[in-house]
Amino acid sequence: MAVPKRKISRAHRGNRRSHLSLQRTQLVRCTNCGAMIRPHTICKACGHYRGRQILRAAND
Ligand SMILES: [Zn+2]
Repeated sequence: MAVPKRKISRAHRGNRRSHLSLQRTQLVRCTNCGAMIRPHTICKACGHYRGRQILRAAND
């Protein structure tokens, strides 16, 4: 268990916790079909990644 050497002030504690908030998931547009996808992932709608077809198209 951590034993406090000195009391952390509310401001000091708040400054530390200023980086702890949850971030909204970042989304970018697929360059092939324009769907909103997470960066650095294959597009689920068309199966493209970095301009290349990776997955087979859904209507194949
Ligand atoms: Zn796409």
